[in-house]
Order: sequence, then structure tokens, then C-alpha cells
Amino acid sequence: MEIVSSPEALQKLCWSWRLQGESIALVPTMGYFHEGHVSLMRWGREQADKVVASLFVNPTQFGPNEDLGSYPRDMERDKALAAEQGVDVLFAPPSEAMYTPDHSTWVISPEISKHLCGASRPGHFKGVCTIVAKLLLLTLPSLAIFGEKDRQQLAIVTQMVRDLNIPTRIVGRPTARESDGLALSSRNVNLSEQERAQAPFLYKGLKQIQSMAKRGERNVSLLLRVADEFLAQNMPLGAKDYLEIVDARTMAPVVMLKEESVIAAAYKFSRARLIDNVLIQPTSP
Ligand code: AMP
Repeated sequence: MEIVSSPEALQKLCWSWRLQGESIALVPTMGYFHEGHVSLMRWGREQADKVVASLFVNPTQFGPNEDLGSYPRDMERDKALAAEQGVDVLFAPPSEAMYTPDHSTWVISPEISKHLCGASRPGHFKGVCTIVAKLLLLTLPSLAIFGEKDRQQLAIVTQMVRDLNIPTRIVGRPTARESDGLALSSRNVNLSEQERAQAPFLYKGLKQIQSMAKRGERNVSLLLRVADEFLAQNMPLGAKDYLEIVDARTMAPVVMLKEESVIAAAYKFSRARLIDNVLIQPTSP
């Protein structure tokens, strides 16, 4: 596996691959790899001739009081894990290479970003769209792979690629979880022991709503009240950022469950903000 840190070198390499007719899969990440990242790389390996994983803790998607400084990092371990998956290139640029001092062009994120994480993290998706657009332009991959854990991000990137005519297929892959249900996240290492013991209830709360919906419950405020109470009781160390049922395409809140909806939540622990979501596909009445 080659480690590339220069954007120009990456662009040149990807051009040469494409000229040889090789397809490219891109897996954008912020590193500190876990099975979720690895599952995306593994899938990319099966789908394309060349796999590029990027490792870049993108400063522009962090707010001023967020965890950019304490975001976990372990380059040596990440290199080994990516190499094990058969990744061809690990692109790990320094911040100054992606954002020159005079950088001032941004991708404005679509309407979908008004909701959920976009509402509680102003400017977050502008940073995400800008860095993803840059990575797509550097690699021009036939497909780029994202995790469903960040379902809003996946929806936003899918729309961005469509709106800007970027010739890449965006693919979403299922959330990898611990055996107790907790969604894998690089931020889980920042949970205290007590918080770690409570964190799996986030997924359990969402699953509870999902099964009530499957049994025919359509009343969104009732479903949310049940989950809210369940989480307040079982996960008291987590402070609710949001808990919502939204349209799976627009991410706008729904009043009654009709089409495919998503129940999405973000809870803040002392040193980690966790998000998770599940799809609700109500059976026809
Ligand atoms: P991150 O490094 O957290 O920015 O994530 C990089 C990519 O991995 C994104 O597309 C995430 O959605 C995806 N990802 C993160 N956690 C998981 C997980 N538990 N399962 C599947 N994909 C994930």
C-alpha cells in the first residue's frame, strides 16, 4: 500500500489508473479505524480495481467548541489496518495541503442539511461537502463509499454529486456495531466506563420505536415520547441533542409515519457526541 500525502500526486496517480481503464473506489474517512471503516474498504476492494482510502481530520467540519483537538488519531495502526484490507493508496494529506492559507471557495450544502446534525452543528455540512467534493475531484472515482451511520451525510453527499454532475456513484453501507448494539465510532474511546455501559441504550431506544412502528403505531409524537422516556431512564449520562423521526430522503421531521422514515438521534456525553439512526419502513395499513 502506498501512502500519499500530496493532493497533486494523488490526482496524477488516479489519472494514470483511469487511463489504463482501472476503476477506482474512494473511502473518505477521518481515521482511527474500526470495523465500520474496514467494512467500507473491504466492500470497495470487491467492487473496484483500485481502492483509495483517505485519512483526513477535516478541520472545517468542526465547530469552534467541538472536539477537533481531541479527535482520536493513530496513524501507524490505521496504516496497518488499511493495508490488511488491500487498500492501494492511503491518502493522508497535511491540513495545509487541503486548505492553502488563501482557500476561500466552499460548497454550500443542500436543503437536507438544515435538519438534525446540520441544525445542531452550524457549518458542519458545508465543511463536509467541501472536503468530499475536493476528494472526489482529486480521485474521480467510479464509486465513493459512505456509512449509513451518518445517514444525513450520505443523503447530502448523494444530492451534492447529483446537483454538481460529479460522475461518481455514491454507495451507503450498513452500520457496523459492537455486540451490544453500540454503533462503532472513533469517538467511542472518549466515553468513560460508565458512559460506555449506558451508550448501547441509544440503539435499543431506536429499535424500540422501530418495532412499535412495525406493529402499526403511526403517531410520531407518541413514538418519540416513549423513546425519550426510555433514554432518559437508561442513559442518564447522555444529554439529548436531538431525537427525531424524519423523512428518509429530505431529513425533514414527519408528523405521521407514512413513507420510509428514519429515527435519528444525537446524544452528548462528557467527551463524546454519539449519533445513530434506524430506518422505519411501516407496513401498509
Ligand atoms: P469517519 O471517519 O467517522 O468520518 O467515518 C468515515 C466513514 O465511515 C463515513 O462514511 C462513516 O459514515 C463511516 N462509518 C463510521 N462509523 C461507521 C460504522 N459504525 N459502520 C459503518 N460505517 C461507518
